[in-house]
Parts: sequence; structure tokens; C-alpha cells
Amino acid sequence: MAVQQPAGPDPYFPDNGDARYRVHRYELVLDYRPGPNRLSGTARINAIAGPAPLAEFQLNLADFRIGRVRVDGRQPHYTHRGGRLRVRPAKPLRAGAAFTVEVHWSGNPGPVPSPWGGLGFEELADGALVASQPVGAPSWYPCNDRPADKASYLLSVTAPSAYAVVSGGRLLTRTTKASTTTWVYEQSAPTSSYLVGLAIGRLQTVLLGDPGPGGVPQHGHIPAQLLPRFSRDFARQPAMMELFQELFGPYPFDEYAVVVTEEDLDVPVEAQGLSLFGSNHVDGARGSERLVAHELAHQWFGNSVSIADWRHIWLNEGFAKYAEWLWSERSGGRGAQQLAAAAHRSLAGLPQDLRLADPGRRSMFDDRLYERGGLTVHAVRCALGDDAFFRMLRDWVRLHRNGSVTTGAFAEHVARFADEPPAGLFEAWVYGTALPPLPVLGDRP
Ligand SMILES: [Zn+2]
Repeated sequence: MAVQQPAGPDPYFPDNGDARYRVHRYELVLDYRPGPNRLSGTARINAIAGPAPLAEFQLNLADFRIGRVRVDGRQPHYTHRGGRLRVRPAKPLRAGAAFTVEVHWSGNPGPVPSPWGGLGFEELADGALVASQPVGAPSWYPCNDRPADKASYLLSVTAPSAYAVVSGGRLLTRTTKASTTTWVYEQSAPTSSYLVGLAIGRLQTVLLGDPGPGGVPQHGHIPAQLLPRFSRDFARQPAMMELFQELFGPYPFDEYAVVVTEEDLDVPVEAQGLSLFGSNHVDGARGSERLVAHELAHQWFGNSVSIADWRHIWLNEGFAKYAEWLWSERSGGRGAQQLAAAAHRSLAGLPQDLRLADPGRRSMFDDRLYERGGLTVHAVRCALGDDAFFRMLRDWVRLHRNGSVTTGAFAEHVARFADEPPAGLFEAWVYGTALPPLPVLGDRP
């Protein structure tokens, strides 16, 4: 059961994405040279027109040189300005028609500007990294850049053989010719454009734990010198995977990979089937273990169950935050109640003008959204009791797997698991701004 995609542009990013059509598959063939930081690519995009005929449509793509554009093999009119590639096919596309767009592009990729600094493709001292949340995907490939437009991906990247190329999904082939190697990844699960991750670097690959029959393979891709610290810091990730499968239901993808880059990152970033960490997140003392749990939890909350548009981001971050607390509780650390109390104390001393349900673009990544989001999930748990709460969570993940959701849909879902509708809970925690009293586990009548 997927919530219908909104018909209009994203309220926070009206220039990104085009709701008049949807993409069901991207096939990207890229060639990247780290020294000169040169990228050239060909995209074949299989799409379907919406309920109205399509005289023109838009893809998002940063300021590259466009070599060629085709729609169903024919040359369209197009303009490419301000990160938008506007395409007018020779003949309008019929309502509901399947069509194929081909785009060739090349240039020196770099981050696209945003209110949070550059996003997307980043050239490193020796390699490259892509972390796109929320609107960085057009920094490296043409896309219908909205989180609810989820597609499968075939990604082929050719790079000098000294480098490893890591993306989410299954590595189909790795072929070396002369001095270059081509890595082909298939991500068959529907994926939001911002969640296509990429790392190119001198990385070693290790297997974390023993997945056993039917288990989820978990790989780490790490610079050799960070391997000892990584081995300690990520040692408990297989146990997290087991716990989260118990609490949230089956892991939604075929495998999970983590990359640690040689450089620092402000925060780790999630991608589909992949999370990216900076060297500052490995200290050999499990100092960032809560973030290991946070990023893993996004595979369920944010990646498999996506948001319909960015107003609903608390659904990603609130659950990922709460997963940190659940991991702590179940792995011998502080309990969720204690962590909720600490979050509540810190929020009580901060301005109370943030509304989870629609925080505004500027406050999407405000720390208060994460903390209040975690507290809201805790409030739901306190209201439902553990048994109904975890059944509710697993059912939410199962119903909306590969789909996209809204805050309203979550409120309705929660009400179905309560003996009595949790009166005022969503009004206070999600739609209001004042901080409600700390919810307490076991206080349920
Ligand atoms: Zn997060």
C-alpha cells in the first residue's frame, strides 16, 4: 500500500523533481578519472508519463556539458539552465505512455550549493564521494530528483584500477581492461535519487561477521590504515542487524555496506544499502556506535519506507534516533527512558518553535528535529505499550516497503494499534511546538 505521490512540486525544493512523470529505471554508464576529476556519463532513463499528456518534462542535472539528449530515440528541444534540464519531445507524450530518455553529459563534477553547503559529488584528496541528502543527486547524474520517485538502478562505473568503486546494491561484475576497471552494480529495490551513494577510493574490503544461510552480507570498505579501528568500532553491527530485524522486520535489501573515507565528514550519511562514514567516526573505542545504529536503521526508515516529500523528514530521523536508543537499551547501555529524559532536558532549554510535521526547509536538519522526533516515537511507545508498539512498527515497515509515506498516514496507522486513540499525542508532539511533558514507559493506564 503506497501513499499516492503528491501532484505538485516539493514545497521545500520546488526546482527539484517533476511530478508529471515517474521513472522506473535508471541505467547509468559513467567514466571517472580522479586526477583531473573528470566525469562523463550516459543515462538511459525508463519513465512513464502521468495522467496528463506530457508536452515537456524536467530532469535535474548540474552544470555539465550536455553531449546529446534523445527521447524514444528522437531528438527533442531542450534547455539546460540553473540545474534544470527541460526537455520538449518532438511530439507530446501520451498520458500514461512509457518513454525512454537518453542523456550524455561530461565535465568536472562538484557539490551543488544548498543552504547546508555543498551537497552531492565531492572530489577527495584521492578519490571521490557522493552523499546527496537531500538534493545533491543532480551533482552527478540526471534524475527526477524527488524522494517519492523511486526507481531501480543499474550503475556502471569505470575508474583507474587502483581504486575501488563502491555503491549500494549487488556487484554484478568487475572487469579490468588495461589500466581501468569497470564496476557494475544492480540496485533492484526502488530507490530515491538522493539515496544512490558512491565512493571511489583506495579501499580494502572486509566482511563483517558471518551472514550464515539467509543472512544479510555486510561489507566494510575502508582505507587500510583505518582497518584496526574499524574492526573494533563496527564489530557489533551484525548484532545490531539482528536486533533491528527482530524489532522492525526483515532487512529490506539484499546486502549492506559501509564505507569509511580517508577524510572527516560532519555526519555519516545514509544511502540505499550503504552508509558513508568519515575517518573521524572511527576511533577504535566505539565512540560513534550510536551513529552506526542510526545509519543502519535508515535502511528501514527513510530508504525502504521513504517520505512523500521533505516536510515529513522527521519520520526518517525520529525513527533513526529512536533506533539509537533501542540499540543502547538492548545492548547493555542506557535505556530508552533514560535517553529520552536526557533529550527532553536538553530540548527544554532550547527555543520551542519547531514543528515536526512541517519544520520548514531551514530546520530540516536541526538537532531539535532529531531529538524531538525520537521523543515522539518514545511517546507512541509509552502510549501503546511495548507489545502493540513493536507490532505497529513492523506493520508500518511491511505495509510501506518500497513506498513513500506522510505524517498523516503514520498518525492513522498508530491509531489502529491503540485500544483508545492516543488523544492529543500527535497534536502535541507533531503538530504543536511547545514541549509536552516527558512520556514515561509503563505509565500507560
Ligand atoms: Zn539520520
